[in-house]
Amino acid sequence: MVRLNEIRAGEVTVDAPPATDAGLVFIGRIHTPWTSRLECPRLGRPDGPVCRVALFEPWLAALDGIAAFERLEVLYWMHLSRRDLVRQSPADDGVTRGTFALRSPARPNPIGTAIVTLVGIEGATLSVRGLDCLDGTPLIDLKPDRGLFTPLARPQKGDFDVGDAKP
Ligand code: SAM
Repeated sequence: MVRLNEIRAGEVTVDAPPATDAGLVFIGRIHTPWTSRLECPRLGRPDGPVCRVALFEPWLAALDGIAAFERLEVLYWMHLSRRDLVRQSPADDGVTRGTFALRSPARPNPIGTAIVTLVGIEGATLSVRGLDCLDGTPLIDLKPDRGLFTPLARPQKGDFDVGDAKP
């Protein structure tokens, strides 16, 4: 069963500090077919439905060059999640795991990430496949898929560092 905000058998919460959203700026909004967590995919799939990522006005110029990338990484803020669980039971069967061993939306900072396929761009709106978030989810960042991206800046020392870190 999908979690709304209930606590399940065996799960553990903590007194989380007041959430301040860490000064993030929401740069757009994501539009998907899913209005309920009961219907949303657990994880996006490359052949999933086309969804729209709508950038807010001041950020349009930041899309320059993005069409060159077949796949993008989308970061979003799963705004309806609870943020105080440290042990969770995804299957609601009393078996729990630590939050950081899961990709559950319930986490201290509910950042979701998905690798999506870019289908098209029209003005400030990208069409993509591969999302798994609710309609209206705030967008926090867009980047080329790291597997398709080579840094444009000159390499520097750390790029050649390998092996164990010195104490
Ligand atoms: N792909 C992302 C990741 O791995 O970081 C998110 C995975 S999470 C398991 C996906 C689930 O989060 C969905 O099935 C839905 O139940 C929930 N979800 C999606 N959008 C949400 C939102 N805006 N607020 C709260 N929960 C959301």
